[in-house]
Amino acid sequence: MAERRILFLPGDGIGPEIMAQVRRLVDWYNARGYGFLVEEDLVGGAAIDAHGVPLHPDTLARAREVGTVMLGAVGGPKWDHLPFERKPERGLLALRKELGLFANLRPALVFDALVEASTLKTEVVRGLDLLILRELTGGVYFGEPRGIEELPDGERRAVDTQVYTTPEIRRIARVAFELARRRRNRVTSVEKANVMYTGVLWRQTVQEVHDREYPDVELRHMYADNCAMQLLRDPHQFDVIVTDNLFGDLLSDEAAMLTGSLGMLPSASLGERRPDGRRNALYEPVHGSAPDIAGRDLANPLACILSFAMLLRHSFDLGEEADRLEGAVARVLEAGYRTADIHTPGTTRVGTREMGGRVLEALEALSG
Ligand code: NAD
Repeated sequence: MAERRILFLPGDGIGPEIMAQVRRLVDWYNARGYGFLVEEDLVGGAAIDAHGVPLHPDTLARAREVGTVMLGAVGGPKWDHLPFERKPERGLLALRKELGLFANLRPALVFDALVEASTLKTEVVRGLDLLILRELTGGVYFGEPRGIEELPDGERRAVDTQVYTTPEIRRIARVAFELARRRRNRVTSVEKANVMYTGVLWRQTVQEVHDREYPDVELRHMYADNCAMQLLRDPHQFDVIVTDNLFGDLLSDEAAMLTGSLGMLPSASLGERRPDGRRNALYEPVHGSAPDIAGRDLANPLACILSFAMLLRHSFDLGEEADRLEGAVARVLEAGYRTADIHTPGTTRVGTREMGGRVLEALEALSG
C-alpha cells in the first residue's frame, strides 16, 4: 500500500496536547495497516523560539512536499510583544498562502448529546449537518487598491476592493459541487448580486459551472443577508453553502455557533490538485492555542480529532473511516464524557488524555 504522508505541526499552547491524541489515533490506524507516515515540525511560537521565525523555510518546503498538514494551534502571550510580521500567526498565514489554500471548509455538525449547548431551540438544530465553503485567497481582504489616504482638505479616505475573476470563482464552485456529491447533493451559492458586480459575476459563473459540469447537483442562489437569517430560522435547508471570503468569514462563524462550543469545531483548507491527484491541504481546529488552560490536561481534543476525520475524508478518500471516527466521537458524548468546556451537571468530566482514550475505545468498538 502507498504511504500516506502527513506533516504534523502541533504549534503552541494546547496544540501539542490535542495533537498527541490524534497521534494515538494514527498509531491505532497504523496497527491496522493504514500506512500513515507522520513527520513532525515546528510552527508559530515554538518555531520562533527555535529558529527566530514562525515558519522556517525548511518547514515550508517540507509542507509543500508532503502536501497534507495537520496543525494544532499557534500563538500565546509569550510572543504578543513581537511586531506583526514576526508573530506566531504569521506562520499559519504563510502556510495557507504558500500552499495555495483557496477553499476553507467549516462544517457545522450538531451532536445529539450536545444539542442543548446551542443557544437556539433544540428542534431547530437537532441533527444539523451543513458545510460552509469559503473562498479564502481572494476578494476584499486582498483586492487592490487598498489603504488609507490623506485628502487635500485634511480628511482621510479608506479603500478596500472587492474583486473576483472567473477562474477564482470556477475553482471554488467546483470544490462545492464535488463536496455536495459526497453529501446530500445540494449547493447554495451566496453573494449579493442585487447590489454588487462581484455578486453578479459570482452568480453567473457558478451557474455556468453547474450547467456544464455538475447538472446532477441541486443549485440555489441566495443573497448573503437572507442566508444569515435563514441559518438561524431553518438551518436544515442547507447542505453545502459556497460563498466569498468576506461573507464566508461571517457566515461560517454564525453557523459554528449553531453548534455551541469552540472546542468541537474542525476545519480544512484545500488547494489546487497536485500531480498525484491529491490537493494540498491543511487541517486544524477552529479554536486557538488557549494559553489559559495549556499544559493542564483540560483542553478538549475533539475539534482536533474531528479535523483529522476531515483529513481522512478529503486527503485520503477514507470516507467510511471518517464517518466511523465521527461516530466514535458521538458515542463518547452520548456516554456522557465531557471535557471542562462542554461539561454540564450529570455528565462525567474527563481530561484531554482520557477523552482521547475514550474516542479510541469507541472507535475500536465500532470497528469490531
Ligand atoms: P482561543 O480559541 O485560544 O481561546 C478562547 C477561549 O476558548 C479560551 O477561554 C480557551 O480556554 C477556550 N478554548 C479554546 N479551545 C479550547 C479547547 N480545545 N478546549 C477547551 N477550551 C478551549 O482564542 P484566544 O484566547 O482569543 O487566543 C489565544 C491565542 O491563540 C492567541 O495567541 C491567538 O492569536 C491564537 N489563535 C490562534 C488560532 C489558530 O492557531 N488557528 C486561532 C485563534 C486564535
